[in-house]
Amino acid sequence: MIIILKHKTPKEEVQKLIGEIEKLGVNVHLSEGAEKSIIGLIGDTTKIDPRKIEANRNVEKVMHVQEPYKKANRLFHPEDTVIKIGDAEIGGKNICLIAGPCSVESEDQITEIAKNVKETGAKMLRGGAFKPRTSPYSFQGLGMDGLDLLQAARKNTGLPIVTEIMSTSQLDRFARDVDVIQVGARNMQNFDLLKELGKLDKPILLKRGLSATIEELLMSAEYIMAGGNEKVILCERGIRTFETYTRNTLDLSAIPAIKKLSHLPVIVDPSHAAGMWWMVEPLSKAAVAVGADGLIIEVHNDPANALCDGQQSIKPEVFENLVKDLRNIATAVGREIK
Ligand code: PEP
Ligand code: MN
Repeated sequence: MIIILKHKTPKEEVQKLIGEIEKLGVNVHLSEGAEKSIIGLIGDTTKIDPRKIEANRNVEKVMHVQEPYKKANRLFHPEDTVIKIGDAEIGGKNICLIAGPCSVESEDQITEIAKNVKETGAKMLRGGAFKPRTSPYSFQGLGMDGLDLLQAARKNTGLPIVTEIMSTSQLDRFARDVDVIQVGARNMQNFDLLKELGKLDKPILLKRGLSATIEELLMSAEYIMAGGNEKVILCERGIRTFETYTRNTLDLSAIPAIKKLSHLPVIVDPSHAAGMWWMVEPLSKAAVAVGADGLIIEVHNDPANALCDGQQSIKPEVFENLVKDLRNIATAVGREIK
């Protein structure tokens, strides 16, 4: 249930109303927008009579929220959420570019790529230290040493770092040293992990599960937000379909759908969606055209010898050309790439 307040309701009146509603045994979420303020009710609202609330002189309207996700719901928060990470901004008018290798391999590798992508316009550096591989015999990432190297690259370039957490046992280190904690597709419904991430004051990049619906993705975001951490960035990275030509099928329609349903920023990962480097360019362009708030792209200086996902990684020079085109597309759809 949401309560839409009348324009310019005095703060004391809002607090008084919140106090009254809390007495009804539900949790309250206040969203103060430029146009209107909204009180969202979370919990069992079945015994609450909307007519009684509507009788309050400061209330414009009371509405039921059908969807099971509440804090992630656009009804709770009509304006786009904008998340700031250092100089980077995700959500709003700006389109944020995140780039870097699939995995951190060495100090030289990550630092060189970081410098390259920064020059081109990336605002954050990606790189896996812990890799969720299908085969236990594949390269599993450098682990905590990889995090050290990411920190060194951040020191060198000033780029905030985005990297994947695999288990709750890594929480302390990630909370301390990582700027945006990535939850990989395979962990999208690791609810214990999501609950712990909900206790942090740190942006979380939540990737859509391989076979997850949009609603399931939003419910996973809700897990994080329910704990108090509302800095969630959603990521469409392709889903599993009957098609085998591509690694996954990029669900471009998820972008406008999520923008309609939720206020959270949503970015696209064309690299894991396609699984082929030459598709990264057209899919990135399409993603910006349909309203994505950013892109996370695998860029490697030597894809042929990459320890992970070389076949879907683009070279820095390809990234540079791509970003030029993306700037034009962004302008055409009323956005910008700072
Ligand atoms: C990644 O971004 O490194 C990754 C493993 O992606 P996903 O979880 O989307 O497969
Ligand atoms: Mn990868």
